[in-house]
Amino acid sequence: MSKIVCKCGNILPDNTDRIRYKGYIISDCEFFDLLDFADEMIETSNPHREDLAMTFRSNIGIGEKHIRLKEMYQCPLCGRILMEVTPGQFCSFVPEGHDEKSLLDYKAGEQVKYIYKKQ
Ligand SMILES: [Zn+2]
Repeated sequence: MSKIVCKCGNILPDNTDRIRYKGYIISDCEFFDLLDFADEMIETSNPHREDLAMTFRSNIGIGEKHIRLKEMYQCPLCGRILMEVTPGQFCSFVPEGHDEKSLLDYKAGEQVKYIYKKQ
């Protein structure tokens, strides 16, 4: 996708990574499938870690993937949420009761480095 046009007329370019007004949405079922898939990749005896990482990434994304994400954008001008219906097709939602226009631009929490489980 190269750009999205919001109903307010604002053009939202999508031609780079880490766009602050873009995000992805995942269904609850797909989320748990994602966790199971991560477990499967981690718990395998296959020693080719890089291949496993690429297999994991190749199976997750938009379009016809094993774990499907949908793209979403929030217009920084009007605050509308534009959510993918099918690849390249979007529906929009107008915010009610707030004027937050950067819901997708948040700082992630601290990463848990390693959890050691005593046995
Ligand atoms: Zn807009």
